[in-house]
Amino acid sequence: NSHLLHVKELQTQFITDEGTVPAVDDVSFYVNPGEVLGIVGESGCGKSVTSLSVMGLVPSPPGKITGGEILFDGKDLTEASEKQMQKIRGNEIAMIFQEPMTSLNPVIKIGDQLIEGVRIHTDKSRKQAKEQAMDMLQKVGLSRVDELMSQYPHQLSGGMRQRVMIAMAFICEPKVLIADEPTTALDVTIQKQILNLMKQLNSEMHTAIILITHDLGVVAEMCDRVVVMYAGKIVEEATVKEIFNDPKHPYTKGLIQSVPDLRQRKDKLYSIPGNVPKPGQIKSGCVFAPRCAYAFETCGQEMPKLCSTEGSQQVRCWLYHEK
Ligand code: SF4
Ligand code: MG
Repeated sequence: NSHLLHVKELQTQFITDEGTVPAVDDVSFYVNPGEVLGIVGESGCGKSVTSLSVMGLVPSPPGKITGGEILFDGKDLTEASEKQMQKIRGNEIAMIFQEPMTSLNPVIKIGDQLIEGVRIHTDKSRKQAKEQAMDMLQKVGLSRVDELMSQYPHQLSGGMRQRVMIAMAFICEPKVLIADEPTTALDVTIQKQILNLMKQLNSEMHTAIILITHDLGVVAEMCDRVVVMYAGKIVEEATVKEIFNDPKHPYTKGLIQSVPDLRQRKDKLYSIPGNVPKPGQIKSGCVFAPRCAYAFETCGQEMPKLCSTEGSQQVRCWLYHEK
């Protein structure tokens, strides 16, 4: 059972004035070619730090991976040098972000950015790279590609920029694509188009996708499996079917109730009372206890472990196992 990307017991910490903050704590997951894995949670749950860890992009200092393994094609990326990571980033593991302007260079024409992206990782000629760039722009549903090649990012609409980002990400045919809130900034119609596009490329190119989102509606449409993160920890892991049919962790239940399209009742949108604690803020017991409607005595004493229930579902909650 070797997976394409297998994160095992990952720990990523930040050293701050107030002490060491465990932003990612004992996080394990895997993804295989053609699969879409969702990582879900509110902001501040450790989703983005998890993806930055995989990419070798945790800002250091103050951040540091302090434990665990990130096995990619059998190699542990936590041991890779920055030079090795540069070869892997963009080429074998690509990433797209919520705001395309953070990864598109505002002063370089779209065409040149794509051509450069190809040439950095292959020995293709400029002409070949240009053809590949134009093909890719068409593939992501953009028209008048000739004109587009000589435009600058700010000349495009938000939806077009996100398509260009996706073209950039897929042009080197990465084995893994990490998409961090890729559609959050877009309006609903464009969001749907972009998600469909990612899904289409995922099935055509068998790219493994890790989709990071706070939106369970997006998960329902896109993902095969999902891990739910809370305060730096995985609190539930399941197939998408299991998560929606039978959410187990009280946090997951709360998230599902707060998705408008999935709600049964049409009255006021539910939101989970309270805020995500800062990592490390809760020193003992379950990290969700302060917000949990089901909390009982044991919950305040000891942190539950992530335990198997039925099927492939795993949950970190005292309601499902004995102390
Ligand atoms: Fe709620 Fe207790 Fe389960 Fe934590 S362990 S989620 S506090 S019931
Ligand atoms: Mg984030």
